Amino acid sequence: MSLDLPAAGCSTAPVLKERGQHEVFCGLTGIIWLHRKMQDAFFLVVGSRTCAHLLQSAAGVMIFAEPRFGTAILEEKDLAGLADANAELDREVARLLARRPDIRQLFLVGSCPSEVIKLDLARAAERLNVQHAPHVRVYNYSGSGIETTFTQGEDACLAAMVPTLPATEAGDLLVVGALPDVVEDQCLGLLNAMGVGPVRMLPARRSGDLPAVGPNTRYILTQPFLGYTATALDRRGAKRIVAPFPFGEEGTTLWLQSIADVYGVTAERFEAATAAPRARARKAVAAHAATLSGKSLFLFPDSQLEIPLARFLARECGMRPLEVGTPYLHRGLMAPDLALLPEGPVLSEGQDVERQLDRHAGQAPDLTVCGLGLANPLEARGFTTKWAIELVFTPVHFYEQAGDLAGLFSRPLRRKALLQGGAP
Ligand code: SF4
Repeated sequence: MSLDLPAAGCSTAPVLKERGQHEVFCGLTGIIWLHRKMQDAFFLVVGSRTCAHLLQSAAGVMIFAEPRFGTAILEEKDLAGLADANAELDREVARLLARRPDIRQLFLVGSCPSEVIKLDLARAAERLNVQHAPHVRVYNYSGSGIETTFTQGEDACLAAMVPTLPATEAGDLLVVGALPDVVEDQCLGLLNAMGVGPVRMLPARRSGDLPAVGPNTRYILTQPFLGYTATALDRRGAKRIVAPFPFGEEGTTLWLQSIADVYGVTAERFEAATAAPRARARKAVAAHAATLSGKSLFLFPDSQLEIPLARFLARECGMRPLEVGTPYLHRGLMAPDLALLPEGPVLSEGQDVERQLDRHAGQAPDLTVCGLGLANPLEARGFTTKWAIELVFTPVHFYEQAGDLAGLFSRPLRRKALLQGGAP
């Protein structure tokens, strides 16, 4: 089997670009899933009380455990106070690391307040690295809402790590993107069954397993929002394997096939490794497609997963995308998914929320995928919504999750039908 992509799809469709008010979470949100994945990392947000509240409420379940994230709250400071702020940060970090010897990677995460913007966190990370090496590696990145949407926090985090990865001449496969452990294990199982290896992951569960990278490394992304990380890997000479993203049966098969082509996996071996889970995925998706088929879909820009999701929902579930919005359209990464997305929907990049809400009201879609801030008002107006943020908190990649992914979209439609007393 080879990558058989249609010639056009939405590849050359015009893109409506908007630069107005937008409604998204900031990149700090990524800490919620990153700290679960990287088991010896600590995320220290340098920010305000607002940042602390965001993290606390988004990750409230962690309150009884020893958390691996925190906020160093910076009160208002003039420029003369910055030296104190740096000294304060150094003291906080020293105190934290003395108390928590399990921490091997420390991320200083920048935020929006002007006092934080005045602080040079890159210099702070360098200084702290010298103080705490070799036991702890200190990185910095920005999760500021001015610069990032919520999934870009992961991109900024991984991109910050890439320049520090050791060099290699080996031709390992590097799978990039934070996946829940159970999903990562499934991915490794499939690649192992195909005879592809050694396979390394970024991020790794522990700092000791961080991958090396070099000109013979081939890497493949699992998440569409990792543009800066891809650029950083390209700079290290690694080569990206081009593929649609592994959502749904078709997306997963094409993703694996792209790897199989590079590593010379035979058609027989590929078939043997994928036939059974493919059949399971098809069956699981079909159970939800009955509800989704023929329904119209409007995706507000939020997670950067919108284009691959629209592709999955259109091609495997029979939905009709009306508008597919994305905060940022990275054509290089998105080309295979755009080629597969059937012609028809408006593609929009960025947001001018009032204008987009007008377009949405005019189209009156059966299902709306949007951020939390828009979901409640739209539900109050009678629309059926799905929160985009669930797509990053729920395991949705690869074959075994394909049914659950479809279920995330069919459930609100079923619930609505039941509330209205109709058939789901
Ligand atoms: S980083 Fe900015 S947008 Fe995010 S919580 Fe802090 S102040 Fe708010």
